[in-house]
Amino acid sequence: MKVLIVGSGGREHAIAMSAAKSSKVDKMYCAPGNAGIAEYAECVAIGAMEFDKLVAFAKEKEIDLVIVGMDDPLVGGLVDELEAAGIRTFGPRKNAAILEGSKAFSKDLMKKYDIPTAGYENFTDPEAAIAYLETAKFPIVLKADGLALGKGVLICQNLEEAKEGVKTIMLDKKFGTAGNEMVIEEFMTGREVSVLSFVDGKTIKTMTSAQDHKRAGDGDTGLNTGGMGTFSPSPFYTKEVEEFCNKYIYQKTVDAMAAEGREFKGIIFFGLMLTENGPKVLEYNARFGDPEAQVVLPRMKNDLIEVAEACIDGTLDQVDLKFEDNAAVCVVLASEGYPVSYEKGFPISGLDEFNKHEGYYCFHAGTKFDGDHIVTNGGRVLGVTAKGKDLKEARANAYAATEWVQFKNKYMRHDIGKAIDEA
Ligand code: ATP
Repeated sequence: MKVLIVGSGGREHAIAMSAAKSSKVDKMYCAPGNAGIAEYAECVAIGAMEFDKLVAFAKEKEIDLVIVGMDDPLVGGLVDELEAAGIRTFGPRKNAAILEGSKAFSKDLMKKYDIPTAGYENFTDPEAAIAYLETAKFPIVLKADGLALGKGVLICQNLEEAKEGVKTIMLDKKFGTAGNEMVIEEFMTGREVSVLSFVDGKTIKTMTSAQDHKRAGDGDTGLNTGGMGTFSPSPFYTKEVEEFCNKYIYQKTVDAMAAEGREFKGIIFFGLMLTENGPKVLEYNARFGDPEAQVVLPRMKNDLIEVAEACIDGTLDQVDLKFEDNAAVCVVLASEGYPVSYEKGFPISGLDEFNKHEGYYCFHAGTKFDGDHIVTNGGRVLGVTAKGKDLKEARANAYAATEWVQFKNKYMRHDIGKAIDEA
């Protein structure tokens, strides 16, 4: 069959690598893709938000399955447009992708269906938000309602900061229309765990757990980023935590969406916080996490295409989802200066090394071809992933592999997976 993947990051590289292992796939395309994805798929110069062109391309090439990796096209309704043209697509429709696209919607859903999450209020009026903050407990969390590249969340220590935050989100519109509405949420403490799942509208099957590192600097300092590294599984995601989430979070979310007439098919990413009062939902995403996909997919034993088709067909209950009994760590190699400003266009060496070692992967995030050379083309450049028999071995392997790759202004965190030592 012919598959088209929509996206261009490390996540889509991991999806392409996984899909390429399927015996069902004869030909793969990626729009727009990147230099690493080009190893598995023919990259086509169509942007992920160019819906008309994507539909036309899928029709022209008689694509059998489209996999949408990114949040923006999902929230914008790409799945609906492809389906309207008769093309099978893996991912939630617009009315279900709102689970990620509107934090106000997801908070109201959790409240209505009694799914554990932080206490909150939604606001469309900045003055009402400030009046609420004047009697609130600090620290407190301000969230732009819509998509903001993971940057629309402000943790405010006092009223002054919070007032400034309301201005940033709602008046200055730093995150554009994402700030038309805002969630003000109780601040929670605890360990964070990411759990990805496949969903077919009724049935949900969770994947192995992972943990992300969002801050730019060692020791969780510096600005928030798209993610500087991740490990899987999380030692803090115990059987007990899993059982709680099975009972009170996962299936309840799928059932709630169905009850609202928003049947969810695709990936639900649960961002969880393990608080003193039990696990609570921090956020939902409607797609694979990036870089979580880079540690979860290499450990998956199933054929990704078969699972994706089962989600579309509503037969996920017949799938036995299986993961390797090992661990994986991903260290992101970024450009010095990320996430603020950085230079691009530097040649990357050492990429061949990964083909010589089993269990090591170099997922491309911001790369491109410059003639025959692969050069840096973004803030997050590569995700170096390695497996190991346990987390400690995987971490040592991943850091050893980061030395194989060189480019000017290479930057990484040195403490990805440090939490493993505290488990
Ligand atoms: P992304 O899509 O990149 O994962 P996002 O913009 O959707 O991020 P959230 O995941 O909701 O935002 O929040 C980002 C981070 O802010 C969380 O991973 C967590 O560290 C922190 N955070 C969010 N909500 C709370 C809360 N209620 N209490 C404490 N910390 C929080």
